[in-house]
Amino acid sequence: MKVIYNFSSVKYEFSGHPESPSRIKIIYESLKDKFEIEEYSQGLDYEEILKVHTRDLFEKVKNGEFIDYDTPNNKEMFRYAVLSVGSALKCVEYLLKGERSFSLSRPPGHHALKDRAGGFCYFNNIGIAVNKILENGKKVLILDLDVHHGNGTEDIFLDRENVLYVSIHQSPLYPGTGLKNISNSYNFPLPPGTDIKTYMEKLEEIEKILKDFSPDYLAISLGLDTLDTDPLGGFALKWSDFYEIGKKIYSWGVPLFVVLEGGYGPDIGRACREFLRGVDGR
Ligand SMILES: [Zn+2]
Repeated sequence: MKVIYNFSSVKYEFSGHPESPSRIKIIYESLKDKFEIEEYSQGLDYEEILKVHTRDLFEKVKNGEFIDYDTPNNKEMFRYAVLSVGSALKCVEYLLKGERSFSLSRPPGHHALKDRAGGFCYFNNIGIAVNKILENGKKVLILDLDVHHGNGTEDIFLDRENVLYVSIHQSPLYPGTGLKNISNSYNFPLPPGTDIKTYMEKLEEIEKILKDFSPDYLAISLGLDTLDTDPLGGFALKWSDFYEIGKKIYSWGVPLFVVLEGGYGPDIGRACREFLRGVDGR
């Protein structure tokens, strides 16, 4: 398991915003002695972004236009948003070479729709990465483990061939979507207080969906806001539960990569480490 560390992630901050550089620092500290770290700083071809997002949204982010109060924008944000996409695309390179990797990067992406940014997200990092894999004619299952529903990722891949979107998330909670299955999107909304027992039962159901679909690759949106100590989410997972979750996913035997989404509490570092150990079969 290689960790793609996008170190531009720690270079910007909006005062008082929960989506802060300290998230990345906490996780980095927890991973640096356990995993191979590769620093990432390249740019990318903007065409990759425009294959998934509208020109209007692209220009809006680029020009630093107002998005919403949760998703502050300025002229510098574009570069950080682009680098976060690039970090996820780096994972695809490793995936196609047969190596597992994790994109340790912000801003997150799963709330970015084709034509709309929001929810701390500018461009849909995992969406752009998965789109790249689909171009190679492969089948991908996207597993979204953030406590919030990934409305952006669902929007991007709805009705598309060779891809399934599967999400376990809290309801009611932002953004209020993902209440039922539609087309190739499988949603598992769960109440506040959901613990590891219920969570693992849902993963058993997802295992059946995965076996029927038989994907070539698994793309994971890892949100660490399912932790009991998270200030934004209401699930009751302990940091030590993340090993079991990772191990279960590893048992499916599908080559995978992982992209960071949310997670705002004090335990995100060790939860991330345990999850990655699990999906790495350690
Ligand atoms: Zn979230």
